[in-house]
Amino acid sequence: MDLEDTLLMMPGPVPVAPRVLRAMSRPMINHRGKEFSAMFDDCTTMLKEIFQTENDLFTISGSGTASMEAALGCTIDKDDKVVTIENGKFGERFKDIAARYGQVVPVECEWGTSVDLDVVEEKLAEGAKAVTMVHNETSAGIRNPALEVGMLAKKYGALFIMDGVTSIGGDDVKVDEWGVDIAVVGSQKCIAAPPGLSMLSVSERAFEAMNKENLPYYLDLKAYQKSAAKSQTPYTPAVPLFFGLQEALKIVMEEGMDARIKRQATGAAAVRAAMDAIGIEMFPQLNATSAYSSTVSAMKSPEGVDSNDIKNGMMDKGIIIAGGQNRLSGKIFRIGSMGNVAPKDLMMTIQHLELVFRNLNVINEMGAGTEAAAKVFDTL
Ligand code: PLP
Repeated sequence: MDLEDTLLMMPGPVPVAPRVLRAMSRPMINHRGKEFSAMFDDCTTMLKEIFQTENDLFTISGSGTASMEAALGCTIDKDDKVVTIENGKFGERFKDIAARYGQVVPVECEWGTSVDLDVVEEKLAEGAKAVTMVHNETSAGIRNPALEVGMLAKKYGALFIMDGVTSIGGDDVKVDEWGVDIAVVGSQKCIAAPPGLSMLSVSERAFEAMNKENLPYYLDLKAYQKSAAKSQTPYTPAVPLFFGLQEALKIVMEEGMDARIKRQATGAAAVRAAMDAIGIEMFPQLNATSAYSSTVSAMKSPEGVDSNDIKNGMMDKGIIIAGGQNRLSGKIFRIGSMGNVAPKDLMMTIQHLELVFRNLNVINEMGAGTEAAAKVFDTL
């Protein structure tokens, strides 16, 4: 199948606008010259608005995981305790990274269930240098309680390190208001730039906590801070990706964050309405402090159906959705509503999903899901 004919509806990488691709094909520039610095400043200003922060903000040439590692590698020393909240694969990744640098105090909730804030508080009360949480757990389609965890971190004097890889740029993320000391985003998700860059905001408190003897080298955030004062990066940045990022951020600004948040949330609501109409159950089990993600929806595979068959059936039709990761493989399937995804993309995805379900004998007739999604989009 021609790649240009496929529709990427997974939770990142997401489709990139043609003008972003064109921006990336510009001739190279001097990364120590004025042109790069102007682009660097422009990107930083737009990112701070999206992060809703006045903290320092850096762009690392490396995917989201690089910034997750920078956050922990710079702040956590071998005897430091880190409370790691986990209810999906990326919470587990934060735990695994934390274990390389310090002492993990895990709060392990079953993947797809809500975070137990009482247990988080209990662990923080015993004393910890930091707490990590994934705001939008992509693997499970859950939005975790960032405001509440920020309050707990403040109460017990711990740093709040938040993975906003699939929420920042798609959801209303208030880094300063919530007291997030380090917040991380990936370029290939809600911002709809190509993969390869990650951006993170770092509070003054987080810098003060970087008092270990050996900071990482490439991921030394103090080095990023020093270079940012000259509108540069410490090492040669991925210049074409910066071109793409700048253009993608301009698209975000042109749409406006309020409209962008609403469009992505409406997309996820349309998916949920469609699934309900078809009789497919959502995967997350929510309590009062968590919510369905508005950038990715995770659904249980119907009884007796391997979700890989749903994913492969969609792929045959040219639409790429995601299955379950690790222990969730075969059990769930996921549809992204992040980035610049338009209602027409989701309508086409839902229609084809109905076709795949009909072919798998899950439903007899098509149309109920499409109709339900259309009603949600009518509210836009
Ligand atoms: N955190 C979350 C919530 C993610 O969804 C992802 C990727 O899907 C990551 C971290 C890892 O990001 P990357 O693959 O860019 O390193």
